[in-house]
Amino acid sequence: MRFETMELHAGLEPDAVTGARAVPIYQSTAFVFDDTAQAEARFALREGGPIYTRLGNPTVDVFEKRMAALEDGKGAVACASGMAAITYALLNILKAGDEIVSSPTIYGGTHSLLANTFPDMGITAHFTRDNSPEAFEELITENTKCLFAESIGNPNADLIDLEAVAEVAHRHGIPFIVDNTFGTPYLVQPIHHGADIVVHSATKYIGGHGTTMGGVIVDGGTFDWTNGKFPSFTEPDESYHGLKYAKDGGEAPFVFRVRAQALRNMGACMSALDAFLLIQGVETLSLRVERHVENTRRIIEYLQGRPEIAWIKYPELEGSPYAELAKKYYPRGCGGIFSIGFRDGQEAALKWMDNLKLISNVSNVADAKTLATHPATTTHQQLSEEARRAAGVPGECVRLSVGLENVLDLMDDMDQAFDALREESA
Ligand SMILES: *Cc1c(COP(=O)(O)O)cnc(C)c1O
Repeated sequence: MRFETMELHAGLEPDAVTGARAVPIYQSTAFVFDDTAQAEARFALREGGPIYTRLGNPTVDVFEKRMAALEDGKGAVACASGMAAITYALLNILKAGDEIVSSPTIYGGTHSLLANTFPDMGITAHFTRDNSPEAFEELITENTKCLFAESIGNPNADLIDLEAVAEVAHRHGIPFIVDNTFGTPYLVQPIHHGADIVVHSATKYIGGHGTTMGGVIVDGGTFDWTNGKFPSFTEPDESYHGLKYAKDGGEAPFVFRVRAQALRNMGACMSALDAFLLIQGVETLSLRVERHVENTRRIIEYLQGRPEIAWIKYPELEGSPYAELAKKYYPRGCGGIFSIGFRDGQEAALKWMDNLKLISNVSNVADAKTLATHPATTTHQQLSEEARRAAGVPGECVRLSVGLENVLDLMDDMDQAFDALREESA
């Protein structure tokens, strides 16, 4: 099946009992076993099938299969949020004494997990000086267990050379984990470019309507966990009657272990209702992302003509340091999130935002509705102005997440906010 067809059909057969064409919401905690032998077989993982919703649920299963298909992975596991998915993916390979090398321009919650939570667990995170493959390689030590980056960074849409960084990871015998939340599998499939594991905040473009929290981990099934660096995949797990994940985990041993360990023992599972809502989003992902990109390109063109705007960061723009990577990895566009800088600084940026009427001031992205955020006073508030400049979010910066409205209405709204700015300063 091709991408658009998989968005609608992957992982879903009409309901065997009722014939329901849409995915039923299996709002049930537990599932009845035919007999004690079946119960024993399911617990021993000899037989598939639902046991208890924390470990798996038929509605969630459809969402997982669909996401695995769209990312061209071999299996997936859904979690309660993007942060739960990222945490579980990383804790699936990192333990006390281990290290991770990450790009610095990642989502604030992920940055804080790596910089603040992991040290308490004995895990050390190193942040690269930039997105170049050399910057990743120079921080790798014998204790490094994975490389981490986002396909499209936040809030400036920085890109990364996925194939080159994957090559560095594999040369050192470690996996490359990519957060593809801003990219979406419609614009880029990191597994095709060498990534081993893909994670998502499904809260964003996957759901697409700003209604539902969710996360997912997709296993490319390509990484060799038996290379000696990952004993938890090759040695028997006594808490699961001697299971060896690399051998017994089928085509997707990474997510098999997430389910058997992190999800079973830490429990941030996805609910059936949320899986249902996210599946509704997935069905129109390609249509929506196409329009997000089209609207974004038109809004950028409009903003390029405004004297109040000093700079625009979007990889497709001439002069962007990522223009070449955009051509190579994102022929369909670089998504709907980008940043702009106001010539008159933070004060002008804040005034403009306060005068927007249709566009909402919200610390979220990838909604069907257009959103604006002022990172310096919200998401990056705790940093010094110097650190904010280094992170690419100075006071004059506004992040825009372009939605699906008629683009002329968005321009009208921006126009009247620019007018108000001029009147206030006159
Ligand atoms: C929102 C976001 C997350 C966190 O996801 P939640 O669903 O809010 O927990 C992680 N990574 C990126 C890139 C995000 O945009």
